[in-house]
Amino acid sequence: MRDFSKSKKIVIKIGTNTLTKNNKLNVEYIANIAGQIATIKSQGYQPLLVSSGAIGFGAREMGIEKKVKKTRLKQACAAIGQPILVHSYRTEFQKYNIHIAQVLLTREALDNRDTYVNLKTAVEALLEMGVVPIFNENDSVSTSEIEPYIGDNDQLSAHIASKLDADLLIILTDVDALYDKNPNHFPDAKPIRVVEELTEEIVANAGGAGSSFATGGMKTKIMAVRIARKAGCRTVLAHGMAPDVVPRVLSGEEIGTLFLADKQKMPNKARWILNATPRGKLTIDAGAEAAIRLNKSLLPSGIVSVEGEFSKGDVILINDKFKAIAGSDSSNMRQIIGVHSREIKNILGEAKRDVICRSQEIIPIPE
Ligand code: GLU
Repeated sequence: MRDFSKSKKIVIKIGTNTLTKNNKLNVEYIANIAGQIATIKSQGYQPLLVSSGAIGFGAREMGIEKKVKKTRLKQACAAIGQPILVHSYRTEFQKYNIHIAQVLLTREALDNRDTYVNLKTAVEALLEMGVVPIFNENDSVSTSEIEPYIGDNDQLSAHIASKLDADLLIILTDVDALYDKNPNHFPDAKPIRVVEELTEEIVANAGGAGSSFATGGMKTKIMAVRIARKAGCRTVLAHGMAPDVVPRVLSGEEIGTLFLADKQKMPNKARWILNATPRGKLTIDAGAEAAIRLNKSLLPSGIVSVEGEFSKGDVILINDKFKAIAGSDSSNMRQIIGVHSREIKNILGEAKRDVICRSQEIIPIPE
């Protein structure tokens, strides 16, 4: 039996397909989901929604029939569709006396420690007021060329769950579970009810390298699960159209697929480092790499090269194997490549730190 009685913060992701009927916004579905959210809220859960649909509904509003491909058009459609979407949620939630809030995010806002802390504080305040926050990506300002989130609310929802320390992520989609093989091709395919570990086989089946029976959209869902797992957050993947799906999932019913979390929850700061987009790259020698593996700080003597322009506090890559917080900016780092720590003050002045990255801020990237 699944037990979510100790879970409180629940992130629920709803995809564009689930929200669409006859090529239009499915208002009945929004009404239905508002009722489900009202139910779980009355049971003491704190729901947070991540809703897609802005681009699609914006396009429909403007009479655009084809799938929008050009970035500038997508951005324009998102700006048109987002208020339509949120208006609909507001109307339906009002019937249950529930206030909603719109929170639009970019990868940059989540990567930057200051804006992320602001976000966390604001969302905590919303939840304390009993408001249901509805998240989406701020598609009009973030593009796939600049930031790698756009078009992927699966991963966005997992980042939200991770950064806001949610207990459960529910991804509502148009498949009813993860299968052991593609159910469209194999009639004997069986749904997997519990996934304890994200094995190579599961990742490959979801459409990764070597995939032979990928089902559409499963890959980004597995990537989302991977992010949530590290945050100690379980994920349930379920069919968005299954009646009363959200309250049923929370009551412990065996629907969809439950992905368990990593046994050891990674600390919040380490997760933030690992999930951030690196702004630069260091190549370090074998001795320095061995030292940081033993939890030593990275000293300038071990640096071979510095790539990119970054500021102190940004996340950088080290040998493509670690992510870390830069202890100084890229121009200072370039000046002290390979030098002994005692030389730093002669080159950069008294106040400079002698480490490039502090040991507790260097996180190995999982294989
Ligand atoms: N943010 C996009 C939108 O609202 C959707 C992204 C996705 O479907 O994953 O249209």
